[in-house]
Amino acid sequence: MHFYRPLSPIKAVTFDLDDTLYDNHSIINKTEKEVLRFIREYDPQFSNFTTETLSMFRNIIKKKQPCIYHNITLWRWLSSKTMFGHYGYSSKNAKKGADDIMVHFTYWRNQINIPLSTHEILKKLVGKVPLVAITNGNAQPEVFGLARYFQFVLKAGIDGRSKPYCDMYQLAAKKLDIEPQAILHVGDNLVTDVKGAINSGMQACWFNLNNKTLIQKTNTYLLPHVEISQLSSLLLLI
Ligand SMILES: [Mg+2]
Repeated sequence: MHFYRPLSPIKAVTFDLDDTLYDNHSIINKTEKEVLRFIREYDPQFSNFTTETLSMFRNIIKKKQPCIYHNITLWRWLSSKTMFGHYGYSSKNAKKGADDIMVHFTYWRNQINIPLSTHEILKKLVGKVPLVAITNGNAQPEVFGLARYFQFVLKAGIDGRSKPYCDMYQLAAKKLDIEPQAILHVGDNLVTDVKGAINSGMQACWFNLNNKTLIQKTNTYLLPHVEISQLSSLLLLI
């Protein structure tokens, strides 16, 4: 554990989800593979699709709606609908196809096994301060057993622009009725989590997953208050 700024008393903790409370990379990789397989089998016209094909439709939407990245679920749905439309589906059937893809996506996206140790840590923390989740992603903590620890979950696109924008940080403080400087945000990303939280007036805990060196990170703009490499270190802080 390293300290970079003096910590003030902590009355609540907000958590990033992906790659902070579970390894998201393997889940997303598996999900993308399963979604591609589903699309290929959906219609013989799609049998040769690759990840690049799907990216192309995502880029079409991004060009039309540059701010769509704040809502990655809607972005995925719109990309799918556009893809079906491009291959001759009626608007109604394109919507149905996009819905079918999202059902498949949602299933695989939430196949997340939370380590027992993480449950133990959250159980201890929740007895001390209120906990909240703030995510740019579309995981559903209620599906994989984490929702019980959080007073509420804020999601980009629904509850504001994505991190590092201050929208969800400010909303969390308002809903908790706790001043931002008494809230500690914990996350693995130096920009979305650390910079976002500090710009919102919160304290920031950087969860350094892979033993990275803070000063070597070229996109480091703001130092966190504290750096940890294991979630259990939070029990010493709270
Ligand atoms: Mg993360």
